[in-house]
Amino acid sequence: MNRVEVKKDNICLNRIEERCINCGMCLKTCQSINNFDNDCINCGACILTCPTGALTPKYDYQNVLNYINDTDYTVVVFTAPAVRVAIGDAFGFAPGEFLEGKMVSALKEIGFDYVFDTTFGADLTIMEEANELITRVKNKNLPMFTSCCPSWVLYAEKYHPEIIKNLSTCKSPIAMQGAMIKTYFAEMYEIPKEKIISVSLTPCISKKYERSLYPDTDFVITTSELILMIQELGIDFKNLTDKEFDKLLGKGSGGGLIFGVSGGVMESILRTAYYMINKEKAPKDFYEFKAIRGEKDIKDAVVDMGEFNLKIAVVNKVSTVTSNFDKLLTYDFIEVMSCPGGCIGGGGQPLVAIKDLSLIREKRIASMYQNDADLKIKESYMNPEIRDAYDCYINKRNVSLHTNHDKK
Ligand code: SF4
Ligand code: SF4
Repeated sequence: MNRVEVKKDNICLNRIEERCINCGMCLKTCQSINNFDNDCINCGACILTCPTGALTPKYDYQNVLNYINDTDYTVVVFTAPAVRVAIGDAFGFAPGEFLEGKMVSALKEIGFDYVFDTTFGADLTIMEEANELITRVKNKNLPMFTSCCPSWVLYAEKYHPEIIKNLSTCKSPIAMQGAMIKTYFAEMYEIPKEKIISVSLTPCISKKYERSLYPDTDFVITTSELILMIQELGIDFKNLTDKEFDKLLGKGSGGGLIFGVSGGVMESILRTAYYMINKEKAPKDFYEFKAIRGEKDIKDAVVDMGEFNLKIAVVNKVSTVTSNFDKLLTYDFIEVMSCPGGCIGGGGQPLVAIKDLSLIREKRIASMYQNDADLKIKESYMNPEIRDAYDCYINKRNVSLHTNHDKK
C-alpha cells in the first residue's frame, strides 16, 4: 500500500475515492511527520499535501447548521487561536493576516448565539498547568510533558506508555472551555445545559477525536469547514465589519493566543509560573523567548525561574520524539505539538499551494507573535475574565479541568 489507510470508523479523516490518483504523497507526509506507517494519530498533515483534495476532515458543519436553525437550542462557538491567521487564505487576504474581527463577524452572520474565544480556555490551561509544574518540581515528579495536542497524547499512549504518568493532567483548552460552557456559562445565563450546543472551531482534525473523550464539546469544526459555511451561505467575508467576542468566556491573553504556535504553550506557561513562584512579573525575555520560537525540530533552554532553574525543550513535529526519546527524558518540562509549526499548521487549515506551506506557516507564526506583542494583557493571570471565573466559580465548584490519562 502506498497511501495512508483511512479506516471506515475514522472520525477525523475522510478520503473521496474518486479523487485519489494513488500518488503516495499522503504516506510520504505521514512518514515524515509521524515516522511510522499507516497508524493514524489523526493529525491530518496528509490533507495539506494531497494534490487532488481527496483527503478532507470528516465534516460536522451540516449538523451544526441544523442546530443553529433549531430555535430550541443555544448554539455557542469558541474559536482556537490559529483559525484567525489562516481563514484569510480562502478569501484573497495576504498569508498570515490577523482577521479576528471578521471571523467573529462571520460566525455571528452564520447564526451562532454566542461567540467565545478558546484563548480563554488556553488561559485556564496555563493557570492549571503552571500550578501543576510548580507542584511537580517540588515533589521531584519530572519530567512533565504538555498534553494539549491529542495526536501527541495518542502517540504517547501507543508508543511510549511508560511516560503517561509524565503527561500533564490538564485537559486541553478546548476540553476546559467545553466544561466551562456546560457549567459556568449555563448557570450564569440560566440556560439548561441540555439546551446548549457547544461547538469548537479549530485548525485541528484531531480535536474531533478528543471530543469523543470529553463530550462537553458537542461538535468540532475546522477552519476549512467554516470556510465552506461562509461560502455556502453566501456571506461576503471580505467586506464584513469587525465584531468582538462575547463576554464571560471571551478574549484571552497574549499567552493564550500564542498557544497556536510551536513553543507558545511553553512560553505562556513560564510567564505565569514565574509570577506564581516570585509574585512578580517575569523578566523581559519571557515575552520574546527567541530560543524556543520557530520551526527547529528541538528548541531548548535553561530558564532561571527564581527559586530554581528549569531545563526545557520544545518539540516541533511528533516524529522528532521518536528519534530523540532518551534525550527528551533529560529535560524537566517538554512541549510536544504534532504539526509542523504547531496548530497554525494543523490539518483542518485551508488548502494552499503545497510549495508555499512552509512560507505560509512562517507568516502565520509572525502574525501570532506580533499580536501577542500588541496586546495589553499578555499573561493569563492578568485576564480579568479568568480572575472572575476562579473567584466566582472554579474555586467554589467542581469543574472538571483535569483528566487521568491512565483511566480515560
Ligand atoms: S495524497 Fe491524495 S491523491 Fe495521493 S494517494 Fe494520498 S489520498 Fe490519494
Ligand atoms: S499540533 Fe495542534 S493542530 Fe496539530 S494535531 Fe496537535 S492540537 Fe491538532
